[in-house]
Amino acid sequence: MPDSESLHIAVVGAGPGGYAAAFLAADLGMTVTLIDPEPNPGGVCLYRGCIPSKALLHVAKLIEESEQAKNWGIDFAAPKIDLARLRSWKGSVVKKLTGGLGVLSKQRKVNYVRGHAAFDDSTTLRVTRADGSEESLTFDRIILATGSRPAIIPSLKLDTPRMMDSTSALDLEDIPETLLVVGGGYIGLELGSVYAALGTRVTVVEMLSGLLPGADRDLVLPLLKRLEKMFDGILLNTTVASVKDEGTGIRATLKGQDGNNQERVFDRVLVSVGRKPNSEIPGLEKTRVQVGPRGFIPVNQQLQTGDPSIYAIGDVVGEPMLAHKAMHEGRTAVEAIAGHKVAFEPNAIPAVVFTDPEVAWCGLTETQAQSENREIKVARFPWAASGRAITIDRPEGITKLLFDPQTERLLGMGIVGAGAGEMIAEGVLAIEMAALARDVAMTIHPHPTLSETIMESAEVFLGTSTDIYRPKRG
Ligand code: NAD
Repeated sequence: MPDSESLHIAVVGAGPGGYAAAFLAADLGMTVTLIDPEPNPGGVCLYRGCIPSKALLHVAKLIEESEQAKNWGIDFAAPKIDLARLRSWKGSVVKKLTGGLGVLSKQRKVNYVRGHAAFDDSTTLRVTRADGSEESLTFDRIILATGSRPAIIPSLKLDTPRMMDSTSALDLEDIPETLLVVGGGYIGLELGSVYAALGTRVTVVEMLSGLLPGADRDLVLPLLKRLEKMFDGILLNTTVASVKDEGTGIRATLKGQDGNNQERVFDRVLVSVGRKPNSEIPGLEKTRVQVGPRGFIPVNQQLQTGDPSIYAIGDVVGEPMLAHKAMHEGRTAVEAIAGHKVAFEPNAIPAVVFTDPEVAWCGLTETQAQSENREIKVARFPWAASGRAITIDRPEGITKLLFDPQTERLLGMGIVGAGAGEMIAEGVLAIEMAALARDVAMTIHPHPTLSETIMESAEVFLGTSTDIYRPKRG
């Protein structure tokens, strides 16, 4: 094994996983080439995913909250939306962050190559630059961080800007009067919320019996109640059988569980039915990298593929397809290449849906515990009993903790409520530190904050909560 400082590595794809890997490798003294078609590192997350959507969701929250302010005696005028300015603000957020990454990349002397990579063999990449020039480069190790792209349903493919995926929906060309969202997952609900706040009448169709299939039902319910007010309709157990471009709109045939079809016309349609891994890397067949049936690249706990020179991280290796998972995998891969004794084996990866209220969970979920027949004890704290939740007029939230009844160890946390995405980090830390119910209950949380609901849930488990009254049994 050569000294890590003499290693030359390539990272293909400069999303959060790829740039984190490249930057750490440079910090460890390796010579690093980072390859991506965009002008700066950032990938889908920064250019057309997490970051622009969160900027728009912030605006959506402001609009919704200004509406709610009527209940508190403050009556704002209806918002006037300057779409060009909103777009340019969103663009400036993306530019600031991707530009910052460009600077960090230069400071670390990472060789950032704007282009596409193809394999000539396990250690040689043919890089086609944006200007068309080609170069063949040889490396000691290659990390694939090629990410994912929106899944496409062939029957919903129409060549018209009225049909959108998450990328085009984020472009915010206009504020359509009506929008059909196909798929009630992360993207459908987040972007549906943005358009609804801007004034679009949004209809969501979800083929399963509930929204956000990965989340526990009790956490989804408060969100569902709020979305039912925000959206025109939420049609569960429904799919879109076909779409037709009528020039002035898209005629969609919606197919319910009862087999009955209904036809509706929408100004625009957003298809958000999941994402597919980008594993069709040209020349990959010249290496020993395998690709699984769903398109994911199998890796070991060091993120090494079937080819010892090639590692893979992020969306391309499997679920959950989340930036923070990719970043940690990137670190692990680089440390493994550097010869450190490491493995990617988290106890908890947080998931956050940035709707309003936010839904967040980490570790074991109740649904998972049930399907695995695991004995757990669940402690819930309703936000209606939280002083802070009442002061912000958001009593619909719930915090719940899942414990091992024997050891009293915290196994999972779920939160629905305003700011749940920030709070879930405490659960991840507690689970990773193997906290017991008593550890969480005895940790003094600041008052009045929503974070107290975490401590209170642990007290509910221990039967010592003073903010909830439970008559003694027997
Ligand atoms: P998703 O998997 O979250 O949701 C897709 C939904 O579409 C599911 O509920 C599924 O049942 C439904 N569906 C599938 N086929 C359908 C059909 N034919 N008709 C109707 N409904 C159908 O996928 P997404 O919303 O496209 O997001 C993709 C991924 O991107 C997410 O899984 C997540 O990993 C990532 N993401 C994360 C965040 C975040 O962290 N906040 C935000 C956006 C995207």
